[in-house]
Amino acid sequence: MTNEQIEHITRLQQSGKGYRAIAAETGIPINSVKSWCRRHPVGAESQTACQQCGAPLCQTPGKRQRRFCSDRCRLLWWGEHPECRTGRAKYLHTCRFCGREFTNNRITASYCSRACFARARAQVASDG
Ligand SMILES: [Zn+2]
Ligand SMILES: [Zn+2]
Repeated sequence: MTNEQIEHITRLQQSGKGYRAIAAETGIPINSVKSWCRRHPVGAESQTACQQCGAPLCQTPGKRQRRFCSDRCRLLWWGEHPECRTGRAKYLHTCRFCGREFTNNRITASYCSRACFARARAQVASDG
């Protein structure tokens, strides 16, 4: 890969694009994109110190990044940052029945509520 391609991948990676989108945009085979991204995770270099006490961290390559030197620091940090407990990611959807936008934590969802789901089913049934 050329430096230009690497820069391009990194930029797309940082903007949160998936392998497929990166491959489509750069024209690089998806398998190359995948293996490159795995070897160069975004922000890999950034977390070198414990987020709570600043003690140096030793990251294990291929494993999930550590943010804290110990469970004690992790618990302390979460205790001090309750606003970061946002839970799971939210996905935006448009209800197929009423057209209203709604969010939930599933990637795929078709209806904003059980009521819309039931009405959509009823409509299909009555249309025969
Ligand atoms: Zn610490
Ligand atoms: Zn709805």
